[in-house]
Parts: sequence; C-alpha cells; structure tokens
Amino acid sequence: MIELESAVIQAEMIDVLNTLKLELNNQGLDYLRDIKPNGENIQCTCPFHKNGQERKPSFGININNGKAHCFSCNWSGDITTMISELFGHHTDFGQYGLKWLVTNFNSTEIENRKPIMSFFNNSKKEEKDKIITEEELDKYRYIHPYMYERGLTDEIIEEFDIGYDKEKKCLTFPVKNYAGDVIMIATRSVEGKFFHIPQTKDKPIYCAEKFQLGSYKKCYITESFLNCLTLWKLGLPAVALMGTGSSSQIRMLQHLPVRKYILALDPDEAGRKGTQRLKKYLSEYKIVREIEYVDKNKDINDLQEDFLVLNEKY
Ligand SMILES: [Zn+2]
Repeated sequence: MIELESAVIQAEMIDVLNTLKLELNNQGLDYLRDIKPNGENIQCTCPFHKNGQERKPSFGININNGKAHCFSCNWSGDITTMISELFGHHTDFGQYGLKWLVTNFNSTEIENRKPIMSFFNNSKKEEKDKIITEEELDKYRYIHPYMYERGLTDEIIEEFDIGYDKEKKCLTFPVKNYAGDVIMIATRSVEGKFFHIPQTKDKPIYCAEKFQLGSYKKCYITESFLNCLTLWKLGLPAVALMGTGSSSQIRMLQHLPVRKYILALDPDEAGRKGTQRLKKYLSEYKIVREIEYVDKNKDINDLQEDFLVLNEKY
C-alpha cells in the first residue's frame, strides 16, 4: 500500500516499479535496472541521469509514501512526478503519473484531502473562464510616478506588464497561471498603499510560470509583488505568494522544477510563521535556505541593493 497525498494505491511499490519498468521497456526505454528492496526503500538505477545507465544504483524510493531521491544527480520528487517525467510530461506536477497509477492499480481517494486531479481540473476550468485579454490589459498600460518611487525600472515595468488603473488610482500587476495566461489583475492603491488580490479558488503564485521550463535552479520566495520584482531587477529569480503561502501554493512549490528555495518572506511575525511552515513542507523536496534579515523593519523593496549582502541560513 502506497499512501500518497491524494490517494492510496493498493499495491506494493516493488510491483509498481516492475510494471513501470516493463511498460518503459516496451517503449524501448531501458530504465530502472536492479530494482532491489532495502528496508523502507527500494533502490534502483536512476532514470534521470546518465540516460538511466549508471553502474551503481543511487536512486531510492520510499515504499510507503512514494517519495524518491537520487543521491547522485539530486533529482527529487515522488512516484507520481517520476512517472510523469518518464513518460514525457515534464511540468504536470505528477498529474499523468497519478492517472497512470490509478489506471494500473486499485486505489482509494483520501476524502479529507484535496484530490490532485480535481485540483488540476478545477483550476483549468476556472482559468479557461477567466483568462484576461490583451484588450483589457491595454486599458492599464500607463506609467505612474509611484512605480519609479518603488524602484521599478522601465525594463521591469515592460517585462512584467505593470500598469496603472486611472479610475481606481492603483498600480496593476497581471498574474499568470502556470501555463502563462493572465488570470487575474492584482492592484496596489497609490494613495492608500494597500494591495487588492482578487479571490480565486486556488491562489496562483506570482511569476511561477517563469520557472516552467526549468530555466532557473534557484528561486527566492517572497510575499509581495514589489519585493519579488525588486529581486528580478537585481537579477535574482523570484516568486511572490501574495501572502505567506496557501496549501495549494505549497503543493505547487513542492513540484516547481527548481533545486533550491531561498525563503525571503517579510521579517515580521507573519513572515516568520510562514517561513517555518514553508520549511516544514518544502525541505523534503528541495534544498531550503532562509534569508537572515538584519533590520527587521526593512523588507526587500526597502533594502534594494543592500539585499545582496544578506546571508542565507539553514
Ligand atoms: Zn540520478
């Protein structure tokens, strides 16, 4: 029995791996040689480096929860993302893998957890309804001095399509889904300085789409748009949670194709709590470090270039 986050697969991991190996072999892929039980884990040759032909198996997969890791190339994920990758679905967060498991083995869905499948299906449906058109975005393509006051440059304004809503007197930040479609416009009022983030079922992660192709190995995690954009300006790849992190955002972060997260939430009480939660849920999947703020009253946007001299800690 394999207990995943969204389903229980009524099969032994060794049978799952042997079935997987057979199907891959039938497709001419010589992966997963030397499948050997080793306590709570099964060891086999890693399919993610040396074209699956390493001599000594360095890939381990937990028989109870399906978490997998390669000690040689550092690949980490779980049985669902592993299967997805092997069949060429590189950025589906294990959606295909889960489908493959459910098709090939008996399974029960865990009711009190949010099923992965409906998570993806729902968000897809919603995104379809809500994609924001170029025409609408054009209404906001104005410059306001407050953009420069916050340290934004013309390059950043252009790249991230930051605009100004003349009616509501606020800066506009188009937020994309993972596929790259704009699905919401968040705002920050120029006078009151407060943010407005439209309510959606699953809050997206600002800038997550930039990581889709595995273009960056590390990713800074911030709370707000301005902090995130400040980091991009400094040449550091970053996302913003528009808060301190929801459970669906955390799940997305677990599967984003990066190797290392540097937690750079705000240096206040809420930020500290969020940082602890992210550490707890991301450490099994990625290398996780935390920014050591010196002045607790200054966030990234206040710090600007001074951010670059801050240390990372465990
Ligand atoms: Zn490997």
